[in-house]
Amino acid sequence: MTSFLRLAIAGLFAVGLCAGASALEHAHWSYAGKTGPSEWAALAPDNATCKTGQQQSPVDLPAAKAKALAQHDAGIRYGKAAGRLVNNGHTLELDLEGAADNKVVYQGVEYRLAQFHFHTPSEHHLDGRAFPMEMHLVNKSADGAITVVGVMIKAGRKNKALAPVFAKPPKAGDAAHDLEIDLAAVLPADHKALLYTGSLTTPPCTERVHWVVLERPIEMSRAQIDAFRHLFRDNHRPIQPLNGREPVEETAGE
Ligand SMILES: [Zn+2]
Repeated sequence: MTSFLRLAIAGLFAVGLCAGASALEHAHWSYAGKTGPSEWAALAPDNATCKTGQQQSPVDLPAAKAKALAQHDAGIRYGKAAGRLVNNGHTLELDLEGAADNKVVYQGVEYRLAQFHFHTPSEHHLDGRAFPMEMHLVNKSADGAITVVGVMIKAGRKNKALAPVFAKPPKAGDAAHDLEIDLAAVLPADHKALLYTGSLTTPPCTERVHWVVLERPIEMSRAQIDAFRHLFRDNHRPIQPLNGREPVEETAGE
């Protein structure tokens, strides 16, 4: 099949199913049924790692192994983040406008925050337990390496810092909203975290992603969680095997 024909067929599948500008860039995928997680690898050759990868995410993490982030491990330096909130058909995502003041320094390498988005229920588990939601803050280095900060979300008080995201979230196909979020006020004060090497949790499931999963959850109100679930009933990938990975142990020792 010519690549043009393949693209055209992928486009036919994507129109009306995948929302946003990325609709024609990849085969349609979803979180259930014939295009769900167990079928991702079969949807496109580029997705092979979703099936063959040995260091996939998300995983179940042992909360007891969480530790304070030492300077040589990872430093999360977030403040105000301005960007465009989009509903890309898979999640709500705030795409940032390249500000240099939001970054993670992971083992000496600087990763700038590119976007953050949400999943329900949480993708990672702590001690076998899922949370109602999980926030992923995706950071990229100059050479394209990725560090993702994962933050668990439990039901509780209204999250004022994230309120602009969930007050009137865009539906699939809606125009992007311009927003500014104070990420310093979103993250828990305690940056105790579990570090491990995994993958993107969406196709093409690219590996060698550094994960920094915070052990302390943040809170959102039931109304805020419901506002997200009204758009995305379930957008999580199931737990993947650790295959011998030891969360935290891989980091440089004291
Ligand atoms: Zn994610």
